[in-house]
Amino acid sequence: MDQASMKPSPKGVWSRLALWKKILVGMILGVIAGSLMGPDAELLKPIGTLFVNAIKMLIVPLVFCSLVVGVTSMQDTRKMGRIGAKSIVIYLGTTAVAISVGLGLSHILAPGAGLGMTASAAAADAKEAPTLVQTILSLIPNNPISALAAGNILQIIVFALGLGVALNLCGEKGKPAVQVFESLAEAMYKLTELVMKLAPYGIFGLMAWVAGKYGLEILLPLFKVIGVAYLGSVILVLLFYPAVIQVVGRLNPVPYIKGIMTPAAVAFTTTSSSGTLPASIKCAREDLGVSKGVSSFVLPLGATINMDGTALYQGVAALFVAQAFGIQLEFADYVTIVMTATLASIGTAGVPGAGLIMLSLVLTTVGLPMEGLAIIAGIDRILDMARTTVNVCGDLMVSVLVGRSEGELDESIYYRAEGENLKVKEETA
Ligand code: ASP
Repeated sequence: MDQASMKPSPKGVWSRLALWKKILVGMILGVIAGSLMGPDAELLKPIGTLFVNAIKMLIVPLVFCSLVVGVTSMQDTRKMGRIGAKSIVIYLGTTAVAISVGLGLSHILAPGAGLGMTASAAAADAKEAPTLVQTILSLIPNNPISALAAGNILQIIVFALGLGVALNLCGEKGKPAVQVFESLAEAMYKLTELVMKLAPYGIFGLMAWVAGKYGLEILLPLFKVIGVAYLGSVILVLLFYPAVIQVVGRLNPVPYIKGIMTPAAVAFTTTSSSGTLPASIKCAREDLGVSKGVSSFVLPLGATINMDGTALYQGVAALFVAQAFGIQLEFADYVTIVMTATLASIGTAGVPGAGLIMLSLVLTTVGLPMEGLAIIAGIDRILDMARTTVNVCGDLMVSVLVGRSEGELDESIYYRAEGENLKVKEETA
């Protein structure tokens, strides 16, 4: 029989589908399964947990090895310092924009207005934020092995940077160790690729569980606050980041938007930016063309300190609580919210639900009732899905920007998908 006339089997079609399309199918089927099964969809959660555990397994060795290799491949220590400084400045800037978007939208759309809540107790005492000195001191691990064992990303970054610089300074004598790290890093990238093949199934399990757990009855009264948080997220990911890429990076933002689909889906369903690191490092290198050196440094740093989505959420949630309890906020309160939420988002770990804990800090600092936290907590997973996606997309945007400004962005990879499209158009013309 003529090969061309043979219909591909469904299995063949599935295996040829791009990963992000498979993930999309997994998501949609998950929502359908969860809605049909209701709370019983909890049964499907282990499939998701399997995937989440598999990616968590990769984080420490992947970040550590790829960062050491990133530093040894860069040689120029001053360049590294510049990349770090640039990343931090852009991270802080985008976070401030994110929280302003959150406050602005909540101010205009008033998601908490008319809920008529009353606070029964005075706001709890504000938590002590760590001092700057404490924060800086805690960056340096007493014992790098326990930092690795505990998965303390900032301490791992500091140790890996130090080790990489030291290996560079060792010259010839450092070469064998560098080769070992290069080989381990390659193996970790390969393992990431294998684990990512599980993504569509894991995401199916997670979506089914979420859709089954939060029926419409729970979501409807809080529909407005969810809507405002999601609207803010869409504005950041589809308008603000592409605009920065276009204006500051002088790049067409379309490949960025197409390229981030897979890590965005992983972030959305796992609600952990640290957990999404393997997917985002892979995406930055293979789809966005960011060099190994820049992606292995900027992304782990971003996953720990850059939380635009969390900042946006803090703004939306704080105003929501104020409106729900009929508390009038002054301009000075807005300024306090911007400052506390920016700092709180830096201190937020890239794990599920961390932003909710930090929200208590913001609420108490401005003297808002803690009961508000309880209302938000009921739907936190739904909000976490949006904010983690923004967190990860923001990190990827900064990696593109920094890569571009340092001549560490391979445009032939960045524009690859576009180029292929153009090629197809030419062929069909
Ligand atoms: N889950 C978020 C993240 O991993 C942090 C948060 O809860 O805001 O980025």
